[in-house]
Amino acid sequence: MIGALMPLAILDTTNTLLRERRERARALGNDLVSQGVFSLHCSCGNCGEDPLTAAFPDLATQDAAALLAFATAQCAGDVRRRCQSCGKAAPVDGLRLHLWSQQRNGDGVLELVSGVARWLFCADAAAPQVLAAGDALITTVLCDQLLRAGSFLNGLEGREAEALALWHRAAALLPQAPMPSIALGRAALLAGDESAALEHLRNAAACSDGHAPACRQLGALLGELALRHRDGELLNRALDWLDQALDLEPNNPVTAFALGRIFVSSGSMQESLEHLAVAATHPPLADEAEHLRGVALLQLGRADEAHQTFERLAQRHPEDADTLRMRAWARARSGDRAGALQELEALLVAHPDDEETRNFRDLVAGDEGG
Ligand SMILES: [Zn+2]
Repeated sequence: MIGALMPLAILDTTNTLLRERRERARALGNDLVSQGVFSLHCSCGNCGEDPLTAAFPDLATQDAAALLAFATAQCAGDVRRRCQSCGKAAPVDGLRLHLWSQQRNGDGVLELVSGVARWLFCADAAAPQVLAAGDALITTVLCDQLLRAGSFLNGLEGREAEALALWHRAAALLPQAPMPSIALGRAALLAGDESAALEHLRNAAACSDGHAPACRQLGALLGELALRHRDGELLNRALDWLDQALDLEPNNPVTAFALGRIFVSSGSMQESLEHLAVAATHPPLADEAEHLRGVALLQLGRADEAHQTFERLAQRHPEDADTLRMRAWARARSGDRAGALQELEALLVAHPDDEETRNFRDLVAGDEGG
């Protein structure tokens, strides 16, 4: 049983566990990082937290009552957790459930002691703020959690329908939030239902102004649709959203990448270069950004620079056939046709059935005199 009068240790926002959670949440983006932290009171004198935390079920975050029911079930009966100090099973004092909110850049915390619950909100370097029942912040936190859980499930084989259900729930919970509509729009686009995608994106556009991640993702998705259909009007809308995202967060590499990619795909090579240079500073995007930059430089007739770009990429990925072909192509363009042919022949020896490489070889070989 949870001790009737035993309060939880004060929630210190500089607490290592909380800090690590926050750092992890930022790094993980939309992956699931909900956690439960039990508070222990051991006969050995140790009062502490059980750091063995776990993700909790997604449906628990559908509303505040569902989450409270989930928390209550975790503390029902004689619950014991291992004491970190003496290793014995120690009684649990209470439970804190943490829900990271991307929109509010802080942790929503449901605290449960002796069946009595209260909500707190912790932002960076601020004392925990106590929330009243029905506080709008609670809804924001739950909405973010549903989005996050949906993204997590969506990455698992065969769980896409559950992800959609969570995103629909998030949209219903907070109709004025753009991110659920964006998640639904992206899913519809991936499923090939473009009219549904446009409808979701239209809903998102109605509430994305001033919201950097929404502007960025909306712009990228509209850009994808625009390029697919060569729709100039849609392309302009996409660029407007990405420009707004860049105004809100200058030098954001993800926004820069989306802009660079759209410019390369729509033939605006010169405009793409500065954005791709920014995107290349962000390790997860660096390779793709460099590759696009190489393509743009080739189109601009700057074959030497393109060759250097693909050379750098080839050093990082010596087995990547696409990079090796482009390096050879840039080499041919910069005047060294014989060297390029040698590279392509070597690539064909290693992969004799590679049609793409054969095409490049024939193209370079046929370039004689030209
Ligand atoms: Zn102990």
